[in-house]
Amino acid sequence: MYAVKQALVEELEQIRADGLYKVERELTTPQSSHVSTTQAEALNFCANNYLGLADHPDVVAAAREALDRWGFGMASVRFICGTQTQHRELERAIADFSGTEEAILFSSCFDANGGVFEVLFTAEDAIISDELNHASIIDGIRLSKARRFRYRNRDLADLRRQLEAARDAGARRTVVVTDGVFSMDGYYAPLEEICDLAEEFGAMVFVDDSHAVGFVGEHGRGTHEHCGVLDRVDIITGTLGKALGGASGGYVAAHAEIVDLLRQRARPYLFSNAVAPSVVAGSLKALEIAREAAEPRERLRTNTALFRRLMAQAGFEVLEGTHPITPVMFPGDDGARRASQVADAMLARGVYVIAFSYPVVPKGKARIRVQLSAAHSEEDVRACVAAFVAARDEVG
Ligand SMILES: *Cc1c(COP(=O)(O)O)cnc(C)c1O
Repeated sequence: MYAVKQALVEELEQIRADGLYKVERELTTPQSSHVSTTQAEALNFCANNYLGLADHPDVVAAAREALDRWGFGMASVRFICGTQTQHRELERAIADFSGTEEAILFSSCFDANGGVFEVLFTAEDAIISDELNHASIIDGIRLSKARRFRYRNRDLADLRRQLEAARDAGARRTVVVTDGVFSMDGYYAPLEEICDLAEEFGAMVFVDDSHAVGFVGEHGRGTHEHCGVLDRVDIITGTLGKALGGASGGYVAAHAEIVDLLRQRARPYLFSNAVAPSVVAGSLKALEIAREAAEPRERLRTNTALFRRLMAQAGFEVLEGTHPITPVMFPGDDGARRASQVADAMLARGVYVIAFSYPVVPKGKARIRVQLSAAHSEEDVRACVAAFVAARDEVG
């Protein structure tokens, strides 16, 4: 053990030396637009709490009531004795909202992506994946024996080349896999064009809509609604851990046969505990709010537009778009250092944002990723911009 310990010490030191060591700030409050950490009070602009449902009183109340009515834990996987009526109720609600026939719950979207590919795609098949897809998609694809093809981020010409390559390789089933929204840029996948290409080649379309479900599209149904392809996506995965209350849980929404087969074969579903009753009840309430309340979605849009406009006016370079993920760019060789100094200076001024640099984003493209929420007030948004300006002046 001593030799292993020594080697790990060196590995950890290297992570620190590379400036990649992550230190977790501890909150002393619930997740919200205003939080406290052990060091400071801050406006929170780095949560995936897009609709402000993480501490919504109705969601909390639903979870609390579920503790009394449904108990604390299931102590079983779904197929033994871990399925309550509300688990099925949530699955049907997710399917209905997504516009698919059926849906199946997993402990997380990471697990959903980890389980889905090996069930549906074998050595005879081809998986064509966007290069910037989420880590869980990359891992899930690795677990399947299908041939793998990768295309450049949102690059339709390259996607066509990969579809041709898969066809020439004689693939039985082909699937194109993409995030609905790319988390570092806030860019939408061009789903209409992807569906057109997939149709031309007889391929299926798979979208991970974790950064969209609940708030993207007119009714918040996701990127497929935003892009006008509601009924053209075959498989949708998503999380309950972001806009939909932010607790935990993920799902696959798809054709009934796909979901049925996943219940029989998906390993993270078969061999991992059912989602906790309070989380199921809270998520059901969160989904109900997301469905019915156009108002928080509108506030999120207004906040995002205001932030993007004010930052541009203040002379910051912001990646174009409409998604609440708003990357504020710090280009150049010393961008990584400046971004992280600005983020630190902002926290000292009571605004919590996170800087990202290589290898999370390409070299020379360091950024502070701001995430707006419906829970922010206009005053909060203005305070965030003011903190950016002051921090920039301070850092130089
Ligand atoms: C957040 C995220 C996940 C992971 O979701 P969890 O439910 O937290 O495991 C998967 N895919 C994408 C695209 C995500 O953004």
